Amino acid sequence: MLYDVHTHAIPPQVMRWLQDNHHKVNAQWKKKDPLKAEFLSVNGKWEFELKEVFTNQELYLQEQAKAGISFSLVSAIPQLFLYECEPELTKELASVYNDGLIDWSGQNPERLSALATLPLNDPSAAALELERVMKCGAKGAIVASSWAGRGLTESDLTPMWEVANAYSAIIFVHPLLCEDQRLRKTMMANLIGVPWETTICATDLLLSGIMERYPKVKVLLAHGGGFFPYQIGRIQTGYEKWTAVSSNITESPRQALCKFWYDSVLWNADSLQYLVELVGRDRVVPGTDYPFDLCEWPPAHVGSDGFRSLMNNN
Ligand SMILES: [Zn+2]
Repeated sequence: MLYDVHTHAIPPQVMRWLQDNHHKVNAQWKKKDPLKAEFLSVNGKWEFELKEVFTNQELYLQEQAKAGISFSLVSAIPQLFLYECEPELTKELASVYNDGLIDWSGQNPERLSALATLPLNDPSAAALELERVMKCGAKGAIVASSWAGRGLTESDLTPMWEVANAYSAIIFVHPLLCEDQRLRKTMMANLIGVPWETTICATDLLLSGIMERYPKVKVLLAHGGGFFPYQIGRIQTGYEKWTAVSSNITESPRQALCKFWYDSVLWNADSLQYLVELVGRDRVVPGTDYPFDLCEWPPAHVGSDGFRSLMNNN
């Protein structure tokens, strides 16, 4: 059986909202290449080709079936997290987006479930929205690994973690483009900046003690966890040498590594094999990042143990 826990879609309600509010969020559609769909940019950031399959739900389900995928966990696109907007606007779009994904998955419960987007720029609203969507059937939320220099371990996000723990929610950590100026050339902000952002977030979640404090939350890391699994030896050695590293945690980083879930979006069989051997088959879940340009479609075959353990009690 093939599954996909990392894929994105844009419900029609969201496209209507974007058209109605295009001035407020600076949404721009541009035809750049006669052979491609229009490109969409929001707030001048991270332009992408708005392929028909992002917005055509019937087409999405046809492509899902063609790829042999029996079930997908569908998320919002990171370009529409809108954390940099006024919180009222972010909240409004999050609720429109989440209702759209929940409706769609509710109509196709054998084939789809939803991960919600949260207004992290208003942490109390993020906790409330997570609680609301969990009651409506979502499996958890997709959140950025950081934004505007803030990570997921900021103390004002405690209510969100508490709700996630109470509902055994999936928190899918999905990076935004890295804004390090050195990465502006040759798509490096995406190629290596994106996995670097995940690496920072995962290390911070581990060393801050958040993972131990909220053990029922299922933290899923995008793109195989970035560079985090590969550097676990360094983090482990620091933990053994320095109290500044070990003071917030009781489990070693090497043990805690196996408390996360990792998607399989690595485009390389040797890297994926290394990940599976390091963290265990039950912690690696099939994903694609479909339909973005760098998707791995259909997903790599990594078995169903990871998918089952991620979806358990959910
Ligand atoms: Zn993605």
